[in-house]
Amino acid sequence: MKLILRQLELPLDYTELDLPAAAIRRLKCNDNEIKQIHVVKRSLDARPRRPAPVFVVAVELEMTSSFRLPEWLKKDVEILDNEPAAEPFKPVINKDAPRPVVVGAGPAGLMAAYHLAVMGMRPILIERGEQAEQRKTAVDLFWRNGTFDRENNALFGEGGAGLFSDGKLTARSKDRPRIRLFFETLVQCGAPRDILIDSEPHLGSDVLIKVVANMRKIIEANGGEIFFNTPLTDIYIENNHITGIKCGSKEFKTSRLILATGHSAHDIYKLLQTKNVELESKPFAVGIRLEAPQSQINASQYGKFADHPRLKAASFRVTRRPEKGVRSCYSFCMCPGGLVISCASEDGALTTNGMSYSKRDGIWGNAGFVVPVEPEDFSELAAASTEPQLAGIHFQQQIEKAAFKAGGGDFFVPALRLNDFLAGKISTELPEKRSCPRSRPASFEEILPKFVIDTLRQSIPGMLHELEGIDSSSCIVYAAETRSSSAVRILRDESGQSTTLKGLFPAGEGAGYAGGIVSSAVDGLKAAELLFGVTT
Ligand SMILES: Cc1cc2nc3c(=O)[nH]c(=O)nc-3n(C[C@H](O)[C@H](O)[C@H](O)COP(=O)(O)OP(=O)(O)OC[C@H]3O[C@@H](n4cnc5c(N)ncnc54)[C@H](O)[C@@H]3O)c2cc1C
Repeated sequence: MKLILRQLELPLDYTELDLPAAAIRRLKCNDNEIKQIHVVKRSLDARPRRPAPVFVVAVELEMTSSFRLPEWLKKDVEILDNEPAAEPFKPVINKDAPRPVVVGAGPAGLMAAYHLAVMGMRPILIERGEQAEQRKTAVDLFWRNGTFDRENNALFGEGGAGLFSDGKLTARSKDRPRIRLFFETLVQCGAPRDILIDSEPHLGSDVLIKVVANMRKIIEANGGEIFFNTPLTDIYIENNHITGIKCGSKEFKTSRLILATGHSAHDIYKLLQTKNVELESKPFAVGIRLEAPQSQINASQYGKFADHPRLKAASFRVTRRPEKGVRSCYSFCMCPGGLVISCASEDGALTTNGMSYSKRDGIWGNAGFVVPVEPEDFSELAAASTEPQLAGIHFQQQIEKAAFKAGGGDFFVPALRLNDFLAGKISTELPEKRSCPRSRPASFEEILPKFVIDTLRQSIPGMLHELEGIDSSSCIVYAAETRSSSAVRILRDESGQSTTLKGLFPAGEGAGYAGGIVSSAVDGLKAAELLFGVTT
């Protein structure tokens, strides 16, 4: 008999050798009834009500035929006997269809192209930036001295927006087969197998670069073709159906295009607007990035066990409901042991984000603290615009341009000591060892709308209080966090195509139906499946 036993609690310093004894205690069985055991899921429970943090694991067991499952355990056990082995999910596609084109080599486009290639469809993948390794050189230069490259930056280039990230692989999506396939794809491309087990898996930017390079090699080895330094600049249409694309001096004929250009490709939204592709504004959130000493974050989450060698850099998630005339506020995209980074995809505009390496061993941790923005907040911009559906982007751009200016116009990030921000003061100096050295004090009032500033000032003290142990006087805040999610949605129908342009399959975060690495990759995979489920 094979079974999964859930909710098995193990001490922090457990080893594989401890698994059988723990299972025997729960199953009330004899030790010779366990033929095999291994961990299939693992999470950490460090809630303060526990005397010490524990790992809560699910194990897969193979038992001898003499074993009888106790009645009282049934809720925590799943019998695997007679169940078909988990099949990797296989997209259903028609191999006689013409060569598909995918634009954008972020998580969505890479995942789509990878599986089209593995299925023998020989996709063409178009990317405006460089390969990940060369892109890294350009991004390092930007962080070192502010040299900006329009096509190779923290948002554009192979690997997409997620390349210089924490590489958190958490997702709210319930699409388990596709999430599993994405994780297995990452493992095939060099990601550690732990991501298949951990409840909060992450890769880190150093690992992501290697994984992306391997995805590229597998796409090419399976007949896919990748064009770097090749921005999509025009779409050819006949009778409401896509017939091809122009990328600078190159042209590609296609009747099926997966558009996975992310939410920073403002030129693409403008292009779609001129082609009468149906777009709509959607809500997003803006705010700041808050950096706190990782040792304090660890202490707040793990208490006296903070220095335990099995405990990794801790993360947190805090939310605040609307109160006393201010909006709700929530922490977002936590990067334990990470860095605050400046990001830009156009000259004269600046936004912040966070990234980390696989070890997450930096002395700071950071998270966005953001406030929801609704289309009504930029209705005046929409009314005054010839492209009202893009008003959310204009709203973000106003903030990003103000941040660039306030930082001194050389891509220094505006930053303040948290207590100064809360008191409405401009810091005279910043801690020398901050994670983002190209930052300088500036007034956040010149950058963010008043409702955002008011909400942050009122909410953050309570949120930090909830985290117990984080001292606001040791925190730094950076402005501004603007690209939490897409401000625009490219409307799709049930076939996954644009509602107004047949053959166009908008996918990933830029389509407005996904956010984050996992959900964008899953959306790209779905687009690859849908691409050949449709006939003209
Ligand atoms: C610094 C940072 C840290 C993040 N950290 C995390 C995290 O830890 N976990 C998480 O889940 N999410 C994180 N995110 C969000 C995540 O990266 C995105 O949700 C995800 O990358 C979206 O994937 P995508 O493929 O839809 O778009 P993108 O990743 O934006 O990729 C779009 C691609 O299209 C290309 N492109 C754009 N325009 C054109 C054009 N005209 N022609 C050709 N190519 C074009 C771009 O160069 C890019 O490669 C982070 C984002 C940033 C910026």
